[in-house]
Amino acid sequence: AGRLKDKVAIVVGAGSSGPGWGNGKCTAVTFAREGAKVMCVDLKRAAAEETAGLIAKEGGEAFAFEANSANNADVKAMVDACMMKWGRIDVLDNNVGIGSTGGPVELSEDEWHLVFDVNVKSFFLTAKHVIPVMEKQGKGAIVNVSSIASIRSPKGVSYIAYNASKGAVNSLTLAIASQYAEKGIRCNAILPGLMHTPMIDFLAEQYAKNEKDHNQAYDKMIAIRNRASPTGKMGTGWDTANAALFLASDEAAYVNGHLLVVDGGITVR
Ligand code: NAD
Repeated sequence: AGRLKDKVAIVVGAGSSGPGWGNGKCTAVTFAREGAKVMCVDLKRAAAEETAGLIAKEGGEAFAFEANSANNADVKAMVDACMMKWGRIDVLDNNVGIGSTGGPVELSEDEWHLVFDVNVKSFFLTAKHVIPVMEKQGKGAIVNVSSIASIRSPKGVSYIAYNASKGAVNSLTLAIASQYAEKGIRCNAILPGLMHTPMIDFLAEQYAKNEKDHNQAYDKMIAIRNRASPTGKMGTGWDTANAALFLASDEAAYVNGHLLVVDGGITVR
C-alpha cells in the first residue's frame, strides 16, 4: 500500500453496470488501497455510492458524485466539487464507456452519436476541466480506458461505432500527452482485451435469453470469450485496475503517450 499516497484521484465511471466488479469499481478500490483519496463518479448515483461505500468500509477515503460525463455542466460541477473537498486533482481515470453492436449498414445515426458522446466527448470534457487544475499544480496523470477494439476487428464481429470511438480515445490520448508534457501532465491509455465484467455477463445474458437451453447458451458465450485469449481465460477488472495504478503512480513518471494493451495476448496470437 502507498503507491498513490497523498494523491487525489477522480475515477469517472467508478460504478459497475451490474452486480460484480467492473473496471472502474476495481480501479477506484485499488487506488484507495494504495493511499489515494478517491472521488467516485458515475451516471448512476447508487453505483457511485456503492463503490465509495466499499472504500470507506476498508478504511479508505472516498466520496460519491453523480454526473453524466458527456455533459459539460456536470463535468464542471464534478471538478468544482473535488476542488472544494480536497483542493487538488492528481489523477483522472476516464473509465466510462458503452458497448454497441452493428456495422455501418445496421447502425443507426442516433446510436453513432450516443456512442461518441459517451465514449469520446466524455474524455474531452473531463480533460477540458481537469487540465487547468493540473497545469496550476505543475503535475498530473490522466489514464484513459480505451479497448483493443481500437486496433482489432475480428472477422464476423461488427461494432463499428465502438471501434471508431476507442480509436478516437487513442488519438485524443496521444494529442494530450504531447501537448501537455512540458506542463508536467502525463496522459496514457489502457487497451483492455476481453475482461469478465458485469458488462460481459449482461451481453451473455442478452444472447442466452432467447435460446432454448439458456444455461448452455450462456456458458457457450463465456467459453468463446475465454478461448479468444491464448491464456484460455478472460481478464478481470483487477487487471485493468493494476495497469491504471502503474500509469497513475509516480513509477510511470517517464511514461507518457503510451497505449498499454492488457489482453493476455489476444492481439499477438
Ligand atoms: P461497466 O458498464 O460495468 O462500467 C461502466 C460504468 O460507467 C457504469 O457504472 C456506468 O453507469 C458508467 N457510465 C456510463 N455512461 C456514463 C456517463 N455518461 N457518465 C458517467 N458514468 C457513466 O463497464 P466495464 O466493462 O467495467 O467497462 C469500463 C470501461 O472499460 C469502458 O470504457 C469499456 O469500453 C472498457 N472496456 C471494457 C472491456 C470489457 O471486456 N469489459 C474491454 C475493453 C474495454
